[in-house]
Amino acid sequence: DRLISAQGGSDEERLDRAIRPKRLADYVGQTELRQQMDIFIRAALARDEALDHVLIFGPPGLGKTTLANIIATEMGVNIRQTSGPVLDKAGDLAALLTNLEAHDVLFIDEIHRLSPAVEEVLYPAMEDYQIDIMIGEGPAARSIKLDLPPFTLIGATTRAGLLTSPLRDRFGIVQRLEFYSIAELADIVRRSARLLGVAMDNDGADEVARRSRGTPRIANRLLRRVRDFAEVKGDGKVNRDISSQALKMLKIDDNGFDALDRKLLLSMIEHFDGGPVGLDTLAAAISEERGTIEDVLEPYLLQQGFIMRTPRGRIATQKAYLHFGLQSPAKEAL
Ligand code: ADP
Repeated sequence: DRLISAQGGSDEERLDRAIRPKRLADYVGQTELRQQMDIFIRAALARDEALDHVLIFGPPGLGKTTLANIIATEMGVNIRQTSGPVLDKAGDLAALLTNLEAHDVLFIDEIHRLSPAVEEVLYPAMEDYQIDIMIGEGPAARSIKLDLPPFTLIGATTRAGLLTSPLRDRFGIVQRLEFYSIAELADIVRRSARLLGVAMDNDGADEVARRSRGTPRIANRLLRRVRDFAEVKGDGKVNRDISSQALKMLKIDDNGFDALDRKLLLSMIEHFDGGPVGLDTLAAAISEERGTIEDVLEPYLLQQGFIMRTPRGRIATQKAYLHFGLQSPAKEAL
């Protein structure tokens, strides 16, 4: 049971389950991905086969877990969920695999963190629906082959480059999640507000959407905080003014950057003259883990053009300087 994440009981988790889309048609944005998955799922259903293995990559909070659950629902099968760091013994994976029913989905989050021994078990399981398990110990030990039902492995990871290539090559379907547009995020916020019974006008939703760093999880989290603010400081209704006051209190700025984003950008500007600065140096300067910068902070800042990646390190762009009302060095030179 330890291997399968329990359905949590906290209020936030309950709310989260209530607003998580259940069907492909409710999954906002990611249009191309949605069209492709719709075709692959229908084709697999028509052939009465398990869907090919799916690798989903993208920064945290963009909808990887949601998509995995939707795929299982659309296929009409069970989903078993676990994660790379939790699956530490080959036997744990074997136990999960042998308990699957035909066409079931096994979802492994953070699949790049599987141990090599566990990954070895996964290869023949993915390729031939077979596993080799060792029985007994010492000279009497022998390995036997077990057949598995045809199943679908769905792996999620923040960056495709983190996977070993033999593992990556075994996925027939590889999907990359993109940051969401403001219009898409506003759709998500309006939908969540409706499901949570929050009275919110379009301007209020738009204000939350604009400051959500392109990320549905952040949009939904800000919505809950804005709702708190509206209930305590206002009459419970969320309009642009209430949204904007609440976000100001949370220290989320006009670009949706929070204290950590600003700390990273300012450190690059003030301590490293805008860079180039290496990732490890930067991590030490702001006392954050390298992984947090790479997976959580940097992707959005790169996509929005506030920083750039060069062979010699990261640099802060003119946009970053302007954000703080500063002159970039290039301009001063003119
Ligand atoms: P990840 O697994 O990539 O970290 P999740 O699947 O947990 O992200 O998504 C975070 C939250 O954002 C979910 O609770 C879900 O409600 C919401 N969400 C994600 N993607 C979408 C989408 N395409 N449409 C609507 N809501 C979404």
